[in-house]
Amino acid sequence: MSLSSAHRFDPSVLAPYGWDDHWAAEFAPYAERGLVPGRVLRVDRGRCDLVTPEGTVHADTEYVVPRDPMKVICTGDWAAVDPDDRDPRYVQAYLPRRTAFVRSTSSKRSEGQILAANVDHAVIAVSLAAELDLGRIERFLALAWESGAQPVVVLTKADLVTDPVTLSYLVRDAETSAPGVQVLPVSAHDGDGTDVLRAVVAGGTSVLLGQSGAGKSTLANALLGADLMDVQAVRDVDGKGRHTTTTRNLFALSGGGVLIDTPGLRGVGLYDAGTGVGQVFSEIQALAENCRFQDCAHTVEPGCAVLAALADGELHQRRLDSYRKLLRENERLAARTDARLRAEMRQMWKRRETAGRAALEAKRGRQR
Ligand code: GDP
Ligand code: ZN
Repeated sequence: MSLSSAHRFDPSVLAPYGWDDHWAAEFAPYAERGLVPGRVLRVDRGRCDLVTPEGTVHADTEYVVPRDPMKVICTGDWAAVDPDDRDPRYVQAYLPRRTAFVRSTSSKRSEGQILAANVDHAVIAVSLAAELDLGRIERFLALAWESGAQPVVVLTKADLVTDPVTLSYLVRDAETSAPGVQVLPVSAHDGDGTDVLRAVVAGGTSVLLGQSGAGKSTLANALLGADLMDVQAVRDVDGKGRHTTTTRNLFALSGGGVLIDTPGLRGVGLYDAGTGVGQVFSEIQALAENCRFQDCAHTVEPGCAVLAALADGELHQRRLDSYRKLLRENERLAARTDARLRAEMRQMWKRRETAGRAALEAKRGRQR
């Protein structure tokens, strides 16, 4: 790192926004070039707002908005920005993403649209005010797993279920639909469970998913805590010294962690979530390994372990139906999806895996 960039850049300022050793290492070559690191708060019409060691910076995104919608810079990205002696300031590059939330667009070509980058936790809000819709939980879970984020299911408005036995049954039902996923009953109204949720999201970047009315805004306010009024609007200075007020889509939480809350992300649809669907129904996939035929469709085949589990009540028909429905839906989407985009997604996960493995090896090496 050159002297000038070393004195300019105090990384502790970015820590509340998720800056860590990983990002510092990724950013090192840009620091050499005297560029400034920043996390994207929002993107809007050729410009974006970033939080940087110099405060909130407004920068031009011309260099990081290619034709490929998956490569467009988005909220949550870590970027390298021109130093403040340039006018206008450009985002020169963004760092390789750890995870990405992608939405299937309604266009015929079914391209993915990137909604949020570098998300660690997907908080799936499901209201207890109505009958628990397990299929909906499974759909959001598939999306979350596919993005690379760890899902957590929050059963909101828990105060409306006054009987503790009923509540425990509802939690258990949700858990059955969400293997490997924490299920938290939370009441924003009386505060029950919010501390647990706060602890879950403290260690990384989170997004809120769920149907309209599920209680996402209320949860967001609870997580934002006393800082809400401060974070809703950012006063930032554009290149010409004018002050503008804008809404941001990324917040540092008072109890630690970061929340990304973009309007488009809240009700997203599946996008090539084949792997994600498998993870949601991991127990069915495990059963399928014991089917006599490798390509068993679990319908009429002899020696089918899935049908056997169904027959002895170990697996519920609803769960199998939901699995098939999501698989079908995803196949339809995948068939429409541009193969190149999917290859890029796969490559991104592979990079992530390799990086993860390298980190693990390094850790083992240190322990030795
Ligand atoms: P969003 O559309 O997902 O953002 O949902 P909102 O946060 O706007 O909440 C929808 C409705 O549910 C509002 O009327 C809230 O007051 C209500 N609500 C949210 N959280 C709770 C809760 O913990 N308990 C109860 N009883 N109602 C809640
Ligand atoms: Zn089978």
